[in-house]
Amino acid sequence: MKKERFKETVFFEDIPDTGLEFYYADLPGLLDEISECSPNGAIEAHLRLTRRGKNIWAEGTIECELSLNCHRCLEPYPYPLSLRYAYLLIPREVKCHMKEEISLKPEDLDVAFFDGVRLELFDVFREQVLLSLPVKQLCKEDCKGLCPSCGFDLNKGDCACSMVRPDNPFSVLRKLKFAS
Ligand SMILES: [Zn+2]
Ligand SMILES: [Zn+2]
Repeated sequence: MKKERFKETVFFEDIPDTGLEFYYADLPGLLDEISECSPNGAIEAHLRLTRRGKNIWAEGTIECELSLNCHRCLEPYPYPLSLRYAYLLIPREVKCHMKEEISLKPEDLDVAFFDGVRLELFDVFREQVLLSLPVKQLCKEDCKGLCPSCGFDLNKGDCACSMVRPDNPFSVLRKLKFAS
């Protein structure tokens, strides 16, 4: 059975004073258009929205295992993701509300913008996953990467280039000396 593509729109005016809570056992299709990563299973997500004046306070969790591509050897590797997020969504045209909130909660306040009317939860979750990806993606700390000459994955052994490549300029001289 084909899974429904996840999509949910929340209107600002529909958020009650007590807030709104969402829980998803999976978010199918969430990362379909993202080339940097793909999920290795279900993406579990929790989100709580509360009003703060004209702003929305969003907080929640995302749990999943992603498949990332190593920046050195280009091989995919599993990356367990377990993140907590909390930030303020501010109407794009009413940025002055930001100052108000910053004075209330100056400590590590993250902000993002929305159109002031509706919020696409799909975008909220996708953005949080993307923000949490490591800048340097490595399958392991000491990944040897690919040979710059032939492209062989040096984690799998030595390539033919390492035989002909001299270790230092003097090794060539040494060979010449023996040959004479
Ligand atoms: Zn690697
Ligand atoms: Zn090589």
